[in-house]
Amino acid sequence: MKHLTNTLKTTFFLAIIFGVFALEGNAQETKKRLPIIDVHVHAMKVNPNFSSEMCPWFLKDMPGSGPNQNPPSFINTGCVAPLKPAKTDKEMQEAILRANKELNITMVVSGDADIIHKWHSAAPNRIIPSFGISNSNQMTVEAFRDSLSNGFYKVMGEVAPQYQGMSPSDMSLDEYFGVAEELGFPVGIHMGTGGNGMANITSPKYRASLGQPFLLEDMLARHPKLKIWVMHAGYPMIDQMIALMGANAYVYVDLAGFIWSYPQEEIHAYLKRLVQAGFAKRILYGTDLMMWPGLLETSIGVIENADYLSEDQKRDIFFNNAVRFFNLDASKFE
Ligand SMILES: [Zn+2]
Repeated sequence: MKHLTNTLKTTFFLAIIFGVFALEGNAQETKKRLPIIDVHVHAMKVNPNFSSEMCPWFLKDMPGSGPNQNPPSFINTGCVAPLKPAKTDKEMQEAILRANKELNITMVVSGDADIIHKWHSAAPNRIIPSFGISNSNQMTVEAFRDSLSNGFYKVMGEVAPQYQGMSPSDMSLDEYFGVAEELGFPVGIHMGTGGNGMANITSPKYRASLGQPFLLEDMLARHPKLKIWVMHAGYPMIDQMIALMGANAYVYVDLAGFIWSYPQEEIHAYLKRLVQAGFAKRILYGTDLMMWPGLLETSIGVIENADYLSEDQKRDIFFNNAVRFFNLDASKFE
């Protein structure tokens, strides 16, 4: 849901909300938590005019609308304790660094290059920079290769052709995936979820059908050494997701975004089905964090409270699967 901010711009342009940043986490906590790898964090410049409070699981109610009415509200803020957005870049960075330390979270971060550099210089061992492209108009293949080769970036993502009305197997992206394959970069690709009324509100090119996991198959066949993870786990297309992972052993998924936006019963049914189908070793933990620092703990709670997961499965999802997928050194996290 990387384009959520665009949605906010449109939906909330009259509702400029200056949230008071809430200090999340317990500063007194001294016991070191077990490490977590969050594979899906967005770095962006904070714009207080376009940020809003947010109630987790806001998509539990998706009212309809009409073409001549106001668009449906994308995020509801009517809960008892909505999450507050960070008000400044500095606040956001402080929240990130605090999460690195107190919650023991290492993050794969994509988005604004300046912000990623700042976070990375403040916490070089905790920030894994990721470089994304979703449309060949953004840069040439040569420029893309240079960016991936400069030593700073370790991951390619978030690639989100769905919002551009394109399949991930569209040939205009093929050479970029070829570069990632050649350089051994894992790639995160947005597939599936878009929220309520995405095509009506901000992304007229968005197509639900372009989030079908099967659309990855041709691209994967052209790049047999490419390692990808499907961001948002192809929600809600579980059957295709399971079939694709069965056919392609290098495909992983992340749980970002949908686990704190769609109804809880629904998202647990989805996660449970992935595990039930045998893929507990291929699920990565992620938040899709944008501007609400409290979301880190909200998302962690979803996994911790999943009573159908064993403690080992939870540790696999929070940490071990990402160590394996990104070829990290687990001893560095102790
Ligand atoms: Zn996404």
